[in-house]
Amino acid sequence: MNRINVAIDGPAGAGKSTVAKQLAQQLNLRYLDTGAMYRALTSLALELQIDLENEAALTVLAETLEFGLDEASRLTLGGQAISEEVRTPRVSQFVSLVSSYPLVRHVIVAKQRTIALAGGIVMDGRDIGTTVMIDAPVKIYLIADLDERAKRRQLELRALGHMTELADLTQQMQQRDYLDSTRATSPLRPADDAVIIDTTELLPHEVIDKILEIVRSKVDDAHNAKL
Ligand code: C5P
Repeated sequence: MNRINVAIDGPAGAGKSTVAKQLAQQLNLRYLDTGAMYRALTSLALELQIDLENEAALTVLAETLEFGLDEASRLTLGGQAISEEVRTPRVSQFVSLVSSYPLVRHVIVAKQRTIALAGGIVMDGRDIGTTVMIDAPVKIYLIADLDERAKRRQLELRALGHMTELADLTQQMQQRDYLDSTRATSPLRPADDAVIIDTTELLPHEVIDKILEIVRSKVDDAHNAKL
């Protein structure tokens, strides 16, 4: 069970990172938050005042980023843990633009695949099941009502000290989902072989239990196929 790869995709606020992180802990797998990679790139580009319309400049910057995972599966950049600053509303506002560029995605996806190479990883994002880990035996696509997703994100941001109006947040998330699902390169969509789970009425542990059941049945299938 240790080497299995699990892809978790879905729109913003559907519960991906909470679920993916805890699932990885329970299965003793590594965890990679791929959104944090696009966020780190966006945050750095803003800091360096790089023109966010300049795909070539953003691609060069993306190439220089040395991502890694520490022992606790925290994403690191140049050996340092990535700060929660990448979750600010300002970064959220621009991250879908930055991540829409094919060349930028090409570079970041290659870095994600390198991290995945050793196997045994839970990755969450938008294109994990369709692009980054096409061969993952378990692919999950989480969805939830927009109102519920906005409320969850508001709580998360509050915990980080950012006060955001629910109406603004709802509108921003809708806009981000629109950009993510309509971009030309690996848009947000469920893989054909993904299991779709609606988390609106579910607690994180209930979602995790459902995924664990899917993981177990995949492991049993693989075991039986070998007999
Ligand atoms: O998951 P999170 O909301 O932090 O992701 C931030 C943004 O990064 C997404 O809205 C999307 O634009 C981009 N992203 C992506 N592909 C991924 C993960 C995130 O395009 N695999």
